[in-house]
Amino acid sequence: MGKSSKDKRDAYYRLAKEQGWRARSAFKLLQLDEEFDLFSNVYRVVDLCAAPGSWSQVLSRVLIKGEKFGRSAWQDRDAKVRQQMLGVFPEAFTPEQKAAIEKETSLSAAQTGAEATTAANPDVKIVSIDLQPISPLAGITTLRADITHPATVPLLLSALDPSYDSATAAGTQAQHPVDLVLSDGAPDVTGLHDLDIYVQSQLLFAALNLALCVLKPGGKFVAKIFRGRNVDILYAQLKIFFEKVIVAKPRSSRASSVEAFIVCLNFRPPAGFHASLEEPLGVGQRLDRLVKERDMQLPIVAEATMQSSKGTWDYSVKSTPTTSREGGITEVEVYDETEGNDKVNGSRWIAPFIACGDLSAFDSDASYQLPEDYVSLDPVQPPIAPPYKRALEMRAAISKTTR
Ligand code: SAM
Repeated sequence: MGKSSKDKRDAYYRLAKEQGWRARSAFKLLQLDEEFDLFSNVYRVVDLCAAPGSWSQVLSRVLIKGEKFGRSAWQDRDAKVRQQMLGVFPEAFTPEQKAAIEKETSLSAAQTGAEATTAANPDVKIVSIDLQPISPLAGITTLRADITHPATVPLLLSALDPSYDSATAAGTQAQHPVDLVLSDGAPDVTGLHDLDIYVQSQLLFAALNLALCVLKPGGKFVAKIFRGRNVDILYAQLKIFFEKVIVAKPRSSRASSVEAFIVCLNFRPPAGFHASLEEPLGVGQRLDRLVKERDMQLPIVAEATMQSSKGTWDYSVKSTPTTSREGGITEVEVYDETEGNDKVNGSRWIAPFIACGDLSAFDSDASYQLPEDYVSLDPVQPPIAPPYKRALEMRAAISKTTR
C-alpha cells in the first residue's frame, strides 16, 4: 500500500504526520487521557515498549512543556468562554455563578504560573524503554532493554534516580518512585491469532511485574491488551492490585482489532506482597504460595454496578485465591445482591468497558477523501533499527544480484 493510499485509509496515520507525532499511537494515549485524566498529579513516568516514541512525545509535551490536549484543553476553553461571558453579560449570572467563575479564573492563573515552571521542575522524570533504539527526545531518558529481564528494574531505578543503590535500597520507599507506568508493548504479530494473543499476554505480565516493582501506592498502570478468550481472568488478577480496573477502547484503535487498553487506577498492593522480577507473577504458583506463607490479605470484596435490561444492579465481587494453570492468582465470584437473586455470571468478574475519545473524532476504520492537491508527508521518525531491517537488506541484495 502506497503512502498516499494509507493517508486516505488511515486518518490517524495521516494526522500523526501532520501534527508531528512519531506514530499514530499518540492519539490512543491522548484519547485515554481524555477519559481518565491520566496525567494529573503525575511526575515520574515509565513508558515501556516505547519505540518509536509517540507516547513519550505526548508525555514530554504534556508533563515537561505543559501543553494541554483533550479534556484539559476543553476545560480551559470552557473556562475562558465563561470568563468572557461574565465580562460581556454580567447581569446574566447569579452571584454564586459569578463567585464560581472568579474562583476558576484565579485558579487557572495560578496554574498557568505553575506550568511555566514545569520544565524546570526536577520532579518530572520520564524513562522510556524498548528493545529497539529510540531516537532522542528532549527531557526523556531512553533505555534499550528487554522488559521481561530482571536486570531492567535496577537499570530503570537508576535512570530515575542516579543516586539509587540497589544494594541498600531493597525494600525501601526509594524503590517505588513512579506515579504512572505505561506499556504499549506488542510482539511482532504473526497472524496466528492464539499465538499472538498468548505472546501479547506474556508481554503484559512482564509490564505488570515491572510496574509492581516501581509503582507508588496510588499509582496508575495502563497497558495494551489483546482481548482473547480468558482475558477476564487477567482483569480479575489486576483487581488484586488496583482499586479500579477498566478496559478502554480509544476511537483511534481500530474497532476491527482485538486491541484494547487496560486502565488500572489507585495501586494498592495487598499487605505482605513484595514484587520481584526474579520470581514474577504469571509464572508458577507464586501468589498462591505467598497467600499461604505470609497470611497475605487479598482484597476480598470490591463493589461494582452493572447495567442490564432489567435495570441497574449492584454486585459484590469476591476474590478467592485458587490454583490455576496460569499460576493461580485468583478467581473472582460475582453475586447479584438484588433480592431473590443468587450467584450470576459463573465465577468471573466483569471489568467495565469504555469506548473513549471524542465521538466527532475520526473513525479509524473509515476511509476519507483527501483534497486533489493533498501532498503526502513522510513519517516523522522512521524506525532506526526495525526488526525487519535485515530482511529488507537481504531483499535489496538479492534484487541487485538478479538484475
Ligand atoms: N508506544 C509506542 C509509540 O507510541 O511510539 C509504540 C509501541 S509499538 C506498538 C510496540 C513496541 O514494543 C515495539 O517497539 C517493540 O520493540 C516493543 N517490544 C516488544 N517486546 C519488547 C520487550 N520484551 N521489551 C521491550 N520492548 C518490547
